[in-house]
Amino acid sequence: MRITKFLASSLIVPLLAASPAIAAPFSVEQVPGRLPKDVVPISYEIAIVPDSRALTLTGRESIRVEVRHATATLQFNSLNETLHDVRFDGKAVKQVVSNDAEQLTTVTLREPARTGTHTLSFAYDGKIETDPHGLFAQTYATRGEAKDLLLSTQMEATDARRMFPCWDEPAFRATFDLTVTVPAAWATISNMPVAKRVVHGALATTTFARTPNMPSYLVEFTAGDLGKISATADGVKFGVWAVSGSEKDGATALANAQTILGDYNAYFGYRYPLPKLDSIAVPGGFQGAMENWGAITYNDQTLLLSSSSTVASRQEVFSIQAHEMAHQWNGDLVTMGWWDDIWLNESFASWMAAKETDLRNPDWKWWEGQDADKEDAMSADARASSHAIQQHVTDELQALNAFDPEITYSKGQAILRMLEAYLGPDNFRAGIREYMQKHAFSNATTGDLWEALNAAGAKDASVIAADWTGQAGFPLVDVAAQCDAAGARTLTLTQRRFLLRGVDQEHHHWHIPLQIRVGGAAPHPLLLNEDRQTTAAGRCDEPLSVNAGALGFYRTRYDAATLALDTQNFGRLPDTDKIALLDDQWALVESGVDPLPTYLALAASMGSDLDTRAWSQIAEALRTIEFAERGSAGHEAFSAYARSLLRPVYERLGWDARAGETPDVQELRRTVIRDLGSFGDQSIIDAARKSFAAFLLNHDSLSPDYQAPVLRIVAQYADAATFESLHAVARAAKDETELRRYYTALVAVRDPELARQAAQIVLSPEIPAQAAALRLQLIVALAGRHQQLSWQLFREHHEQLLKPFVMEAPILVAQYLPEAYWSGVPTDELDAWVRANVPQEMTSNVDRGMETVRFRVAEKALLTQAADRYLR
Ligand SMILES: [Zn+2]
Repeated sequence: MRITKFLASSLIVPLLAASPAIAAPFSVEQVPGRLPKDVVPISYEIAIVPDSRALTLTGRESIRVEVRHATATLQFNSLNETLHDVRFDGKAVKQVVSNDAEQLTTVTLREPARTGTHTLSFAYDGKIETDPHGLFAQTYATRGEAKDLLLSTQMEATDARRMFPCWDEPAFRATFDLTVTVPAAWATISNMPVAKRVVHGALATTTFARTPNMPSYLVEFTAGDLGKISATADGVKFGVWAVSGSEKDGATALANAQTILGDYNAYFGYRYPLPKLDSIAVPGGFQGAMENWGAITYNDQTLLLSSSSTVASRQEVFSIQAHEMAHQWNGDLVTMGWWDDIWLNESFASWMAAKETDLRNPDWKWWEGQDADKEDAMSADARASSHAIQQHVTDELQALNAFDPEITYSKGQAILRMLEAYLGPDNFRAGIREYMQKHAFSNATTGDLWEALNAAGAKDASVIAADWTGQAGFPLVDVAAQCDAAGARTLTLTQRRFLLRGVDQEHHHWHIPLQIRVGGAAPHPLLLNEDRQTTAAGRCDEPLSVNAGALGFYRTRYDAATLALDTQNFGRLPDTDKIALLDDQWALVESGVDPLPTYLALAASMGSDLDTRAWSQIAEALRTIEFAERGSAGHEAFSAYARSLLRPVYERLGWDARAGETPDVQELRRTVIRDLGSFGDQSIIDAARKSFAAFLLNHDSLSPDYQAPVLRIVAQYADAATFESLHAVARAAKDETELRRYYTALVAVRDPELARQAAQIVLSPEIPAQAAALRLQLIVALAGRHQQLSWQLFREHHEQLLKPFVMEAPILVAQYLPEAYWSGVPTDELDAWVRANVPQEMTSNVDRGMETVRFRVAEKALLTQAADRYLR
């Protein structure tokens, strides 16, 4: 599953480090969960007749079950369903009790069932949702005119039970035979191809082929006025589905899917086992993407590309497809036994997607770009209140909170990359192949993965990896160099936990796979497994990287002499080592360990290097200081300094894109233009205004990629008349891609009165139903300049703003919201409001959000003073 990335979040229950479920191999008996394991499903036959106008459904279900221990009680999940005519082996049962609070149905038999296979059957009435959980109806506008409606599903983590009563925990794999009756004019899609279709009057009854053994959370069904484009490659039928008329915008996605599947077949050494793979573009409310086996659903904005799409959109489409398709193995073919191990799905899919995106698009410099995600994860994980990748989930109703973008996804991805580099890509792949082969069509635990990696020859895998997945946080490696008389260097390496603020009171320890580079040589791996360790490292006059390639999920602090040597030689370091040094030095400055000039000296040493990630790291640090300086006497001096650092990059790149430039160089140009504009560079502001004037006459004069930075600068300095022009552009957006871009520019206004007008526009029906999720982003974006206004609007309209985020809302409020409002809302007020508006069990998430708030408040004072002192 892919969840909205503009939000940071985290989870509920802290990990019990030695939870037996985490280390042990998978077994049905041992796996946690609420349902008894004496009766397990084997196969489901489900027939539903949805009434999409009345938002109800009727269904019939027949489930083959295996009774493993004689019992007169069957218990399974249901929600908002009424069961009737419940029979066991054709005979009426004694009692049926459905409890929606517990999401359980308990069936009592007239006499205990013997061990062996039996059939449970019933009819039921259920409900169609209007939010994306279970079977939901999505309304959307077609070609700006009539409203239409389609049906789709989102089951993960625990919502299959909303469409049909079932054993809704991931360890209960079974086959599914789905039959649906919907309007005959509608297309219907499910995990498997259509086996049979009968039209009767205005309706058609479609039966899909039987699925493989799989967990209920992977069941998919979509129906509506949909069109498709298709292709066959390597024996698999690929389809991209979209609202009729838009399917042609899936051409890139269709090509991507074939490329990615071929690569994954080769990598996993296990062929994709289904006959078809559909990708479905769902308009509106459903915000992420979901890896349903054979029928992946995507928010349409993350699958379709039109002439108004940017390179960034193309990158997002490829990488999200690569993520969801990796799940066809990590998640679908082999499923985690319980939600504790959701990282086996999400970290792997994220890592595999980055690897594949990089492989197929070398000029995107994808891994360098992923460093920004890694940094976000490290910021989140540097909180004393952080949690481990593996986390204890006692109740499946809390499972959704285990999907933490920063830890489960980004940290997990970075850890796997670090492990792969240390263990060797061939060993690592051999271990994954072994794991797939051994657990195909079944479930597995983290322990099973380590065992497979060990068996494949990566001997230390389990010992090293457990440190990184089983405990929160990450280490700071202190590096002290000593030189002998001949100039040979010996490093003393020590480790301790890195925290945003302060020193860790408890002793933590990691097996740290270091990559050490001396001078221009290739890096060599070293496992730092002691609290203190020494190693030889070339000569004392050669530059040194202890995180070569920026592969590690740790921070490095060099002694003053080594840092000075690296700063002097900064221009000679490989780009990745520059990036690692910039990241670490900035984090050390932010946490008060090292003074600001140590970082600024690196930034000033970039010289003519045009590495995009290195510069975006610097630009972000400059934005952080500029934000801190707002309202203080030193603001203008700092803005001028920031301009002076970025201006030479702009001088080299110029305003206009040049033929033959790679996408990352163009991205660097846009970053620099955007930030110079924001920092008040008058020539950039003038150029943006000129470009906007031409754009108003002819939209084609400004390519989609450059529209966002130009319109943003124009909006920042807009007067009332310019604001009206921007608003007219937004109203005339020809599709949702443009609409999102133009309204996002509109809320960049700095003038307080115009900001109020922008807010009223954002809250008005001008934003169509399928783009409702945009409202929250726009109101929160206003917080950048207008904290009080944004906070007031958020509080007044939070129910409306959060409605599209039905799954993520508690985490968004608990953790993300404090991070948006730390600078303009008193900490106590923020804390009190958030705690009053999230469920009790989100307390640790609120603690994490508030830890960041306190850190930001302290950082603001620290950075303002440090920058003023530096510039004096
Ligand atoms: Zn995922």
